[in-house]
Amino acid sequence: MPVTYHPEKGKKRVVILGAGFGGAYCAQALEKAASRLGLEVVLVDQRNYFIFYPLLVEAGTGGLEPRHAVVSVHDFVRKGQFIMAEVAAVRPEKREVELRMTGTDLTHRLAYDHLVVALGSTTKFPPIPGLREHAFELKSIGDSVAFRDRGLQMLEIANTLEDKELRRELLHFVVVGGSFTGVEIAGEFHAFLHEARRHFPGVERDDIQVTLCDFANRILPTLDEDLARYAHAQLEKRGVRILLKTTLEQLHERRAVLSNGETLRTRTVLWCAGIASPERVQEMPFEKDRNGYLLTERDLRLVGHADIWGIGDCALNLDPEGNPYPATAQHAIRQGKHAANNILRLLEGRGEALPCDIVAQGTLAAIGCRTAVAKVFGIKLSGFAAWFLWRTVYLMKMPTLMRKLRLATDWTVQLFFRRDIVQLGVHRIPRETPASPPQQGNPERETPEEYAADEVPEVEPGTGSAAGSSPGRSRS
Ligand SMILES: Cc1cc2nc3c(=O)[nH]c(=O)nc-3n(C[C@H](O)[C@H](O)[C@H](O)COP(=O)(O)OP(=O)(O)OC[C@H]3O[C@@H](n4cnc5c(N)ncnc54)[C@H](O)[C@@H]3O)c2cc1C
Repeated sequence: MPVTYHPEKGKKRVVILGAGFGGAYCAQALEKAASRLGLEVVLVDQRNYFIFYPLLVEAGTGGLEPRHAVVSVHDFVRKGQFIMAEVAAVRPEKREVELRMTGTDLTHRLAYDHLVVALGSTTKFPPIPGLREHAFELKSIGDSVAFRDRGLQMLEIANTLEDKELRRELLHFVVVGGSFTGVEIAGEFHAFLHEARRHFPGVERDDIQVTLCDFANRILPTLDEDLARYAHAQLEKRGVRILLKTTLEQLHERRAVLSNGETLRTRTVLWCAGIASPERVQEMPFEKDRNGYLLTERDLRLVGHADIWGIGDCALNLDPEGNPYPATAQHAIRQGKHAANNILRLLEGRGEALPCDIVAQGTLAAIGCRTAVAKVFGIKLSGFAAWFLWRTVYLMKMPTLMRKLRLATDWTVQLFFRRDIVQLGVHRIPRETPASPPQQGNPERETPEEYAADEVPEVEPGTGSAAGSSPGRSRS
């Protein structure tokens, strides 16, 4: 029977579940008052690093060393405590959480006075045949390394092939989802592949193709139309094929069937179409909407709970008009700080918790080749100026001086040298699928020709699921 750990006598404890943008900044804000109030701040996460998501695309396209896109959680909590563990259960009736130490079956129970749930989101996989088995996603540092590696692996194999059709199949990369992540990765990955191509004399320029498709009638649907049009035109000018009002209907190891009737010969599809509430959050005994997101009051407390708070992607925090705030890092950070201030107000008896009002500062999307689109404090920018702003903003926002310096060094080196094309051999870990077991590939395939020369059976377009790529909730 696991023991329940209580705070020291006379002390109050705030437990924060999730050390992402919401949780880590909430912990930091609470820590400032910790010794004054005799407060124990305990931050819990399944991994001991914080992912700076806006840089994941660059990490996946060789723009920076992947490790430089993450920060140690220990840099966030200096006076508080960090526990690397998975959240196993939350028991509000006992005011305790159960944690399983990551990678073990060791469990702890932790009592709390206030609990903050900030467990983020996962990739939303609608029931499209073959999607879970074959698609790549971009939600972790491993995903970004695996995707970059995949591009290089395909270039290496294609470089040895005489057959142009096969080269084109291997070097056709399809990105599904035309919101920020999809657009950024399509633009940056296209630029990365063409830069890398110089090392592969057997690969011709037109062997490489990046296709971006989206269910909506334009890319970047939450950005102003003129900026989205600029990004669209830039991507097409460089050779990215954009298919609108189009989604994926079926995915196979060597082809993607689209809703417009086309079958694309491809081995790599990146799914960037929407986020979902994590399973663990969906299991929690709290009120949720029909998609499993935590319902909160305007002050960020969970509906019906005076001492439990929900912030970031996993919660539906509402603006003054009653609309949910978008699932973005800038909102999660401010919700984290706001929840911390409200908890401190209550603990210090300074009055009621206050509603969380956030005015978005702006949106930025880098689309490769030193261009970006941006709308910051109402001012619109595009091209190099927007790209420069993009880099400056994220350099400033990157936590810790050490990481800032590493990032600045990576970017400076990149001004003078080409991107590194070392293939690390990191491959996507097949994800579990409830419907059918993941296909592991054929271990017999050893030579590039054998790898490339499997038969591609024809399929009838339009036979797959009607599920669209339109996200339930996405980063806007
Ligand atoms: C590729 C990509 C690019 C993005 N770019 C931008 C951008 O440019 N600008 C922007 O504003 N937003 C961006 N976003 C969105 C932004 O990253 C999220 O909105 C933000 O991270 C949400 O913060 P959070 O704290 O809710 O979740 P997260 O930052 O995801 O943190 C959740 C934490 O909970 C932990 N966790 C989850 N489940 C468990 C469990 N069971 N046990 C223990 N720990 C657990 C996770 O390990 C994680 O550390 C991007 C997202 C992606 C995927």
